[in-house]
Amino acid sequence: MKRFLAGGLIALFLLLLLFGGVTIHTIVSSQTNGRLINYVGIVRGASQRLVKLELAGQESDEMIAYLDGILDELSAGNGSYGLPCPEDPAYQRNLRELDQMWEEVKANIADYRTGGNNAQVLLTLSEDYFTQANNTVFAAEDYSYRQSGILLSASAAMLVIMLLTWIFILVACSKNLLSLEKSNERLSDLAQRDALTGVYLLEAFKEKAQKLLEAEPDEKFAVLYTDFADFKYINDVFGYAYGDSILTRYGEILNGGLRENELSGRVSADNFVLLYRYEEKEELAARQREADRSITDFMHNSHDGQTISTYCGICCVEDVIENLKIDGFLDRANFARKTVKNGTNLNYVYYDESIRNRLREEKSVENRMAEALKRREFTVYYQPKVELSTNRVACAEALVRWRSQDGTVIPPDRFIPVFERKYMINRLDQYVFEEVCRWLRHMLDEGKPALPVSVNVSRLQFYDLNFVNRYVEIRDKYQIPPSLLEIEFTESIAIDNANLLVRIVDKLKRAGFVCAIDDFGKGYSSLSLLKDLSIDILKIDGFFFTGGPDSARDMALVQGIVDLVKKFRLKTVAEGVEHPEQVEYLRRIGCDYVQGYVFYRPMPQQDYEELLVREEEKSRR
Ligand code: C2E
Ligand code: CA
Ligand code: CA
Repeated sequence: MKRFLAGGLIALFLLLLLFGGVTIHTIVSSQTNGRLINYVGIVRGASQRLVKLELAGQESDEMIAYLDGILDELSAGNGSYGLPCPEDPAYQRNLRELDQMWEEVKANIADYRTGGNNAQVLLTLSEDYFTQANNTVFAAEDYSYRQSGILLSASAAMLVIMLLTWIFILVACSKNLLSLEKSNERLSDLAQRDALTGVYLLEAFKEKAQKLLEAEPDEKFAVLYTDFADFKYINDVFGYAYGDSILTRYGEILNGGLRENELSGRVSADNFVLLYRYEEKEELAARQREADRSITDFMHNSHDGQTISTYCGICCVEDVIENLKIDGFLDRANFARKTVKNGTNLNYVYYDESIRNRLREEKSVENRMAEALKRREFTVYYQPKVELSTNRVACAEALVRWRSQDGTVIPPDRFIPVFERKYMINRLDQYVFEEVCRWLRHMLDEGKPALPVSVNVSRLQFYDLNFVNRYVEIRDKYQIPPSLLEIEFTESIAIDNANLLVRIVDKLKRAGFVCAIDDFGKGYSSLSLLKDLSIDILKIDGFFFTGGPDSARDMALVQGIVDLVKKFRLKTVAEGVEHPEQVEYLRRIGCDYVQGYVFYRPMPQQDYEELLVREEEKSRR
C-alpha cells in the first residue's frame, strides 16, 4: 500500500511538472501566434495604405521597406519582430502566394511611378492582394486556433489524469487512515478490557454503558450483576489456576452472548456486570440462566463433576423511578443480587418495589445513624444463656437495639450491615461494650449478681490495630474484672486473613478477655482453624436447630461438633434453640450452654437485672 502511495505521489509530481510546462507553452505559443496574426494583418492594412498613398501621389519607399521586412521575417521565421514560421501547409501556401503577389504589387508600383500602367491596374491588384492577405490572416488564425485546441486538450487530459491520481492518493490515504484508526480503536479497546476474562474493566464498562444509556433514553436497558456462590471454595479446593480458567470461560460465554450495543464488565474477582437490551423482562433472567448453565456445564465436564451456583441481580432501567446514572443502576442490581443470598431460592432477582423500599429504608438508616449514636438511641438487650448442667442462667449476650425517636425498635439486622458498609460499626460496638461495662459496674456497686456478658464485635474491628487497647481502656475505666467480659466474633475474617485473626485473638486473650467463635457452622466454617485459635467458647449456629427436634441429620452434625470441640477443651453454646426436646438432646451430648427462645428471649437491661436478682434469691432459698 505504501509503495502504491509513493508511486502515486511521484506520478502526481511529474504530471504537475508536465502540466506546468504545457501551460507555459500554451501561453507563449498563443502570444506568438497572436503576434503572427497581428503582423499578417499589418501587412494587409499597410499594403492598402501604401497603394492609397501611391495613388494620391505620395510615394512611400519607407513603407515598402517596412512591408518587405515583415514579409521576409514571416517567410524566414526569425527576425526583430519575433515572428514564428509555423509548418502549417495551408498557412505556408497562403504566405508564399502573398509573397509572390507582394513582388507583383511592388513591380506595379514601380510601373505606375514611371507611367507604365494606370491607377486602375494598381487598384485591382491591390484588391487581389488584400484578399490574399485576408486569406493568410485566416490561415494564421486557423492555425493558431488548432494549435491552442491541441494544447488545451492536452492540458485538459492532464488535468483529468492529475485529478484521478489525486483521488487515488486521497482514497489510498483515507483507507490507510481508516485502517490505522481501526487498529488504534482495537488497541484502546483491548487496553480497556480485563486480561483474564476479556470483558471490560469496571471503569470502561461504566463509561460505555453510560453513553449507551444516554444515546437511547427510550430503549429498554437492564443492568445485571452476577456473582458466583463460594468462589473462594473453588479456588481453595481446586487451585487458583482452575478458578482462573472458570473466570476466563465465563468471560467468553458472556461476551459471546452479547447483542449489538450490549456490554459485559468485571467488577472484581467473581463479580460480573452486564448491560442488556430486552423486549420482555423475562428474557433477561432466561439469557443469564443460559450463560450460567454454560459455565456449570463447563465445570461439570472439566473437574470431577463440580458445579457452582450463580446469583444475579437484575435492574431494568424502567423500574427505577429516580433519575440515575450507571452507578445507581449497578448499585440497585447489586442490591437485588444480595437479596438472593439473603434467603430466597430464586437465583435471579429483579429490582422491584420491595427492594426499592428496603433500599429506601437503608438510606434512611444511613442518614440517621450518626445522629442516633450521638442521641444515645441505641440500647442493649440481654439474652441469658442457660447452663445445662445446673439449669441456671450463667451468663448473657448483649444485643443491640435501636429505639428510634418515634419509639419504634429497629432490630440489628436492619442497621448493622449499614453500619458496616459505612465503617461506623466500630463506634457502635464500642458504644455497646461501654454500656455493658457501665451496667456491670452498677451491678457490682449495688452488690447485685454480676454474671459474664458477651458482646459482639464486627469482623471489621479486627482490621483496627487499636481495637484491643481501646476495649481494655474502657474495661479499666469501669474496673470490670476481665472474667466478666466475653468477646464474640465470627471466623469469617479467616477467609481473608487467618493470621490476622490468630494474632488478634491472642492479643484479646493476653488482655484477659474470654473469646467466643460465633455462628459456627454457618457458611464457610473451618474446623482446622480451631487448633490455631486460642478461643474459649464455640457458639453453634441457630441454623442447626431450625429443622425442629426431629432433624436427625442436624443433630448428628451438632453432636459431631460438640464431641470434637470437647477435645480442644472448649465450651459449647447452642444458639437459637426453641424446643425443649432439643435442650434434652443437647444436654445428653454434653453441650454446655443453651441460648434460645426455649429459655429466654433477649430482654431489656432492667428485665435482665430483675431476672438475675430473682435467680439469686431462688438459689439462696
Ligand atoms: P448473633 O450474634 O448470632 O445473635 C443471636 C441472634 O439470634 C439474636 O438476634 C437473637 O435475638 C437471636 N436468637 C436468639 N435465640 C433465638 C431463638 O431461639 N430463635 C430465633 N429465631 N432467634 C434467636 P438479634 O438480636 O436480632 O441480632 C442479630 C445479629 O445482629 C446478631 O446475631 C449479631 O450478629 C448482630 N448484633 C447484635 N448486636 C450487635 C452488636 O452490638 N454489635 C455487632 N457487631 N453485631 C451485633
Ligand atoms: Ca453473637
Ligand atoms: Ca450467633
